[in-house]
Amino acid sequence: MSLPWDLEPALAERRRQQRYRQRRTVDSPTGPAVTVDGRCWRNFCSNDYLGLANHPDVVAALRTGAEHYGAGSGASHLVCGHQRPHHELEEALADFTGRERALLFSTGYMANLGAVSALVGRGDTVLEDRLNHASLLDAGLLSGARFRRYAHAQSAHLASKLAGGQGRQLVVTDGVFSMDGDAAPLAELADTCEAHGAGLMVDDAHGLGVLGEGGGGLVETTGEGERVPVLVGTLGKAFGTGGAFVAGDEALIETLIQFARTYIYTTALPPAVAAATLKSLELARGEAWRREHLQTLISRFRAGAAERGYQLMPSATPIQPLQVGDDETALRISDKLREQGCLVTAIRPPTVPEGTARLRVTLSAAHEETDVDALLEALDHAHQ
Ligand SMILES: *Cc1c(COP(=O)(O)O)cnc(C)c1O
Repeated sequence: MSLPWDLEPALAERRRQQRYRQRRTVDSPTGPAVTVDGRCWRNFCSNDYLGLANHPDVVAALRTGAEHYGAGSGASHLVCGHQRPHHELEEALADFTGRERALLFSTGYMANLGAVSALVGRGDTVLEDRLNHASLLDAGLLSGARFRRYAHAQSAHLASKLAGGQGRQLVVTDGVFSMDGDAAPLAELADTCEAHGAGLMVDDAHGLGVLGEGGGGLVETTGEGERVPVLVGTLGKAFGTGGAFVAGDEALIETLIQFARTYIYTTALPPAVAAATLKSLELARGEAWRREHLQTLISRFRAGAAERGYQLMPSATPIQPLQVGDDETALRISDKLREQGCLVTAIRPPTVPEGTARLRVTLSAAHEETDVDALLEALDHAHQ
């Protein structure tokens, strides 16, 4: 039984554009090496920046959590799905981010949709960096507020848009940008927001756990936490598990509990995932060596890639994209790297702007220097 309209033309067009997406089935835990098609590969495409996704203590906490609380939460948080591990994790996340409270969401996508829609609506304005993560852009569109994009990281451009805005104005940005690895200019953005009476929401999915001595992310390294009233973090990246949170003051969190539809109308995360995240958060905060090792790997990779003539982006994070321009070249290099045992995803439009296809290399504290060297060697061959 098929739909009464034809799905094939759009699929054919995707193929023609070299943009057809395909999945790989992984038969191993996430780590510096993964098993696909019965073969082991060096993995340079996961967001498991601290190497916690398969950490034995985190896995043990997941198991213990399941033994105590079962496999599923059984309901949404407001009905009867809010279990002790969820609550303890919220308290730990509030402490970690230095805010009054934190609220757990099932995914980062949902945290963003829920938060923006709860904070602005018809008659208001939402302003977004044009390179924001898809979930933030969708959140802005879904909110019903007037939707404005400003040029990437350009607070002067943002200011010009704020001047003509209406209603409540919410400025929304990635902290560390997911496809580029660079960071939002938080101090300038906060100044601009203050000057125009706008609110600031930062989604630091890729900075939390990774940046700053204590892993506090971009708000820690910039010291701008006080001027970011809405902070979003995800738990499926540096923290190795899954889910997300919004952190802020009491009134913000109560507002989200009352009005964020993606919080209210969805089943709470499995409690064991929250229990596992409590452990991974503890490791992420306490084991600064993971961040230090990661920085060593980042420097090593950047030096090696620059030497080989690859175009690096201004990124101090484990996201180290090599911009190659056209889709076909990106795919070809990705294929060549795979032939040499390295998995690196080619990221193409519409995920990134036209003409900026890239190899999105991501590094993890679980990598060794020999992994980085192997990737650089593979790049030598792929370049030809
Ligand atoms: C990954 C990501 C999300 C989505 O988080 P999920 O938990 O994977 O849904 C949101 N924002 C940014 C910036 C991200 O990189």
